[in-house]
Amino acid sequence: MQKIATIIIFLFVTINGFSQRADSSLKIVPLTGNFYIYITYSLYKGNRIPANGMYLITDSGAVLFDTPWDTTQFQPLLDSIQQRHHKKVVLCIATHFHEDRTGGLEYYRQQGCKTYTTVLTDGLSKKRGMKRAEFLIDKDTVFTVAQYSFQTYYPGKGHAPDNIVVWFKKERILYGGCLIKSTEDDGLGNLSDASVTDYATTIKNVQLKCKNPKYIITGHDDWTNISSLQHTLLMAQQLKQKSSR
Ligand SMILES: [Zn+2]
Repeated sequence: MQKIATIIIFLFVTINGFSQRADSSLKIVPLTGNFYIYITYSLYKGNRIPANGMYLITDSGAVLFDTPWDTTQFQPLLDSIQQRHHKKVVLCIATHFHEDRTGGLEYYRQQGCKTYTTVLTDGLSKKRGMKRAEFLIDKDTVFTVAQYSFQTYYPGKGHAPDNIVVWFKKERILYGGCLIKSTEDDGLGNLSDASVTDYATTIKNVQLKCKNPKYIITGHDDWTNISSLQHTLLMAQQLKQKSSR
């Protein structure tokens, strides 16, 4: 009898484990040290596409870089961070105005977290009916949260007129957002707000500012191949050539 009970429990745990993995809406992957990548999904042109965000655990709480694309995952992300690290999200920065970055800004503000975008992003968010941050930064800014420091950097127009990257100089982590495309991607993706003429120069500015990154986090798809920056530059140069013909 005990044996049967054990088998049933085993089956239940196994099936439960599988089903959780199969429809997982929120994935969290350790990057290095206290840095974690979180992934949520949404439909884009009929395909289920992943969006990457990041969080950093500091002694003063968690810092969130971009909000989940999947709007059902705003609270689950906070719960996961609480369960896993026993920390609250204290600060959140969105890297451009599109909804895969800004969607959760108001929700997180209501939960007591300090939300930030640039003035440029805020103007576009207002115009396009996107969620907005409580605090605005009007130039590149160094944030220090407990034992960590990072800088926001506006390299110029690219994927969007307002895209910023976040550079962790000490850890050499470049959080690129949607400006930087994964080596898995054979195109620059959504170009509806992109600058065909400036994209390549903007990527070069990132390369000049963020020297020798160890990790480069792309907005979507696989980030582990750090040729992503060079890959994006090549695609941006081709785009410019094509448009000038
Ligand atoms: Zn995006």
